[in-house]
Amino acid sequence: MDQPAANIVDTFGREHDYLRISLTERCNLRCFYCMPEEGIPLREKSEFMSSEETLAIAKVFVGMGIKKIRLTGGEPLVKKDAANIIKELGKLPVELAITTNAVIVDQFIDVFKEAGIKSVNVSLDSLKKERFNMISRRNYFDRIMKNIELLIANDFIVKINVVVMRDLNEHEIPAFIEWTKKQSIHVRFIEFMPFDGNKWNWDKKVSFKEILNLANEAFGESAITKIEDSKNDTARSFRLINGIGTFGIISSVTNPFCDTCNRIRLTADGKIKNCLFSQDETDLLQAHRDNLDIKPLIISAILDKKKQKGGAEEFDEDFVKNMQNRAMIAIGG
Ligand code: SAM
Ligand code: SF4
Repeated sequence: MDQPAANIVDTFGREHDYLRISLTERCNLRCFYCMPEEGIPLREKSEFMSSEETLAIAKVFVGMGIKKIRLTGGEPLVKKDAANIIKELGKLPVELAITTNAVIVDQFIDVFKEAGIKSVNVSLDSLKKERFNMISRRNYFDRIMKNIELLIANDFIVKINVVVMRDLNEHEIPAFIEWTKKQSIHVRFIEFMPFDGNKWNWDKKVSFKEILNLANEAFGESAITKIEDSKNDTARSFRLINGIGTFGIISSVTNPFCDTCNRIRLTADGKIKNCLFSQDETDLLQAHRDNLDIKPLIISAILDKKKQKGGAEEFDEDFVKNMQNRAMIAIGG
């Protein structure tokens, strides 16, 4: 299949060529900032896209100019036929990538290679076993660390996603950066974002500025070099002088990258979210099951995309109080 030029353009002229597909709402971890303590309601399997449906819908997007697909979740690898769907998506003319907690990555190394995946994002919010297990409410730290080593040994580009939360892990920023000195990994510190059930408040997030200050204090400004970012990068990236890896900061809250947003999200139950924070959704799965052409629905969902933050001005207390969104686990970060 040849790749057409991106033709999913919103009213602000943003071309959308990057699709994030959530394969499942289920997960083998319970990170408190992502999954509400009480869990999310269980639903019938028929409410979610099957592998065939995921593939069919993905093909329509690719026909409309999508150039990159990232698989996410929940935990994408716990989907029953994850291996099959990854391999099938790997046959499409797109860059395929995945975001995973890495708990069972060792079972997928060959699948990733066969699907042509080059880059794997792994979430890891602490380098301390007890703290990580407390945040994720499970006990898989050792396994995850081993699997990160395995990915590096198999020459994948490994990006480590760290959600930074006040009084919890911000003092680990230097240790994460130190890691990039000796290993070819790319650490990305993410500002903690508000979602349903995650008890977010303005003071719990640690801002881009604070993260950079903590890095400068630990290593000295002259030891840190800015790296050029590409147009749609969400992270502002840096490197320690003599560092093998890099580190970056994703300022989704204090300085969101809405101006250059090229992302469309497809939830595991087949709905388009045109923004992480959009309250509206478009049901592609039902339309696909009714044999309707889903292209006009995709175009119209993107034409409805707001300029920034799903239409919010600020992530202030009011926004969070009135927010009607899913829990992150049901969106796909
Ligand atoms: N299970 C996979 C994982 O953890 O990498 C993929 C899904 S997870 C929802 C995708 C990303 O969203 C993770 O890197 C996670 O840290 C991030 N995330 C979840 N909740 C968040 C929040 N409230 N603020 C910022 N990032 C969040
Ligand atoms: Fe699961 Fe990823 Fe959410 Fe953690 S961040 S609960 S690993 S989906």
